[in-house]
Amino acid sequence: MAIEPIVQTTSDVLNKCDQADSNGFYKLGQEFEQHKDATIMMVDDEPLTMEVVKMLLEDAGYRNFILVEDSTQAVIKIQEQRPDLLLLDVMMPEVSGFDILRELRGLEDFTHLPIVILTSSSDSDTKLEALDLGATDFLSKPVDPSELALRLRNTLVIKAYQDQLAYYDGVTGLPNKTLFLDQVDWALQRAQRQNNQLAVLHLEVGGIKRIIDTFGPNIGDQVIRDVGQRLQSCVRMTDNVSQGGLGGEPWGSVFRLGSNEFSILCPSVRHASYAAVVASRILDVMKSPFDADGTEVYLTSNIGITSFPDDGDVSTDLVKHAVNAAAHANTKGGDRFEFYSSKLSVSSLNRMRMEADLRHAIENHKLELYYQPQNCLASGVITGLEALIRWRIDDDTMRPPGEFIPLAEETGLIVPIGSWVIEEACRQIATWQKKGLSIHVSMNVSAKQFTDSDLVNVVNKALKKSSIDPTDLTLEVTESLFAKNTDRIVAVLEKLRNLGVKIAIDDFGTGYSSLSYLKHLPVDELKIDRSFIMDIKKSRKDRALVKATIFLAHEFGLKVVAEGVEEQEQLEFLNKVKCDVYQGFYFARPAPAEEIDSLLENRSDCESDAKKIV
Ligand code: C2E
Ligand code: MG
Ligand code: MG
Repeated sequence: MAIEPIVQTTSDVLNKCDQADSNGFYKLGQEFEQHKDATIMMVDDEPLTMEVVKMLLEDAGYRNFILVEDSTQAVIKIQEQRPDLLLLDVMMPEVSGFDILRELRGLEDFTHLPIVILTSSSDSDTKLEALDLGATDFLSKPVDPSELALRLRNTLVIKAYQDQLAYYDGVTGLPNKTLFLDQVDWALQRAQRQNNQLAVLHLEVGGIKRIIDTFGPNIGDQVIRDVGQRLQSCVRMTDNVSQGGLGGEPWGSVFRLGSNEFSILCPSVRHASYAAVVASRILDVMKSPFDADGTEVYLTSNIGITSFPDDGDVSTDLVKHAVNAAAHANTKGGDRFEFYSSKLSVSSLNRMRMEADLRHAIENHKLELYYQPQNCLASGVITGLEALIRWRIDDDTMRPPGEFIPLAEETGLIVPIGSWVIEEACRQIATWQKKGLSIHVSMNVSAKQFTDSDLVNVVNKALKKSSIDPTDLTLEVTESLFAKNTDRIVAVLEKLRNLGVKIAIDDFGTGYSSLSYLKHLPVDELKIDRSFIMDIKKSRKDRALVKATIFLAHEFGLKVVAEGVEEQEQLEFLNKVKCDVYQGFYFARPAPAEEIDSLLENRSDCESDAKKIV
């Protein structure tokens, strides 16, 4: 349904809101062109008749048609597709046009659907019966092209006017409570079908009555219009980094439910807690003063948030809970938002706080790289380092990546973080080189960096800026990277390798492992996950797995690194099965770059130490 202002109660309000004029109003009958977007459904057992009518209407500029030949399916199709107008044949086998008309008029949602009857009968009884059952208009077969186009246009214009009165608020032009409830129902059905989450925000604005009492109703209306516009700006704002809406859709749509009540429906969000982001934006925009006839006035805002499936799966429950939560926000001091579900409230606040802190940490250079040595098993010599990120909380506290990388992935912050890691590691390699401590460094790259950034360009720039040899760099990727869109990923990997950079598969064995896919991938190294190394001593199966993996990797020409080596027995076994390199607390934990200096300076000493161990 895309015409304006004709709003069938199931239409997609998100689009409608975007099409309002600068005052938020839908212009009645002004732009007939918009009616050409109406969805016209035809039900007729003669496909040829439908094709002819469709052709005539296409000539008149209409674009959207649904043709239904089987009248027994008509009502179901109408309920699913919700057309703007129905062209209904009367004489059909099994289920007649009258049967359909009668059934539709008995359904609350379709009481006002314009239904134009197409009949070859000229007898007045048929026409009277159709009118009695609630038909909107008639057309006689064979149809006259001009009459068809004009009757359709007029019917749609009347419907537009009725919809404007029935479903839109006269002051703000926003959809009203009737449309809101219908939309929540509709969105719930969609969310259930698509397994999405949905959020409803209820906003109570305080101070409007005072403005009306002081400045009169006209100024009051102006302020309310301003509120409506500010709210719409909040749901339209999208930023790539923390966008919670799915598929680039706007966050939601705004409704005016009562004199000082508004609602925002976020029909599909990744996580219900994203509604908190919308709520924060609303609180922010509502804070600045409103203009009441030249005087600055302030309003207060309380927002209650409910979500599906956490708080219920019935629209009336969700709305009731959102109203209660808004009242709760008021009792807690006002100008705030509250979740109906306290569980969500705590987790989402923590999340939001952490996301804000992480952004702050990036801006204030609180992220640091630690480095963990990787040693050659045969000689014990340090052959490389893995760069591992840390978040500095204060002088004594570092937050490990496990606590913030998942959030960074989810919010997209991993992309700028990942670019920084590459640049910083390259800079550090250059610094070591200048001190005569040349060393190879591996760094972790997230799948998002492949899909959401120009990784090749990022790496290339970092290499150029630091003037290091590309072969000093390994990028570690995880198996999940190959779960989809493999061709595109392989193309990027190949470009990276063409730069001279090496590629390793990290945490091998934990994901999506299939040894056979290894032979198709442009990789140089395989890192066996710590979970296999951990149980080498007691698990015969793990020993067999590790041994087989090393054998096969070597057959494919790959270097093998064992992760998480903590004990001498593990080292002995790995040496026996010809693993190339090991990394683990047994030799050293990750440490700041300055502490690595001395290890690199004493590389020949550690060679002899390590040899002693093995
Ligand atoms: P990873 O890439 O597999 O890194 C190895 C992890 O194992 C590191 O944890 C390291 O400290 C730990 N480890 C090494 N040897 C041992 C050992 O002998 N015993 C035990 N128990 N642990 C050992 P860390 O530094 O906490 O990193 C965890 C994960 O966070 C990394 O796993 C990697 O997936 C991710 N990560 C770290 N830095 C970055 C980064 O810059 N970008 C991205 N995208 N992910 C990163
Ligand atoms: Mg790694
Ligand atoms: Mg790993």
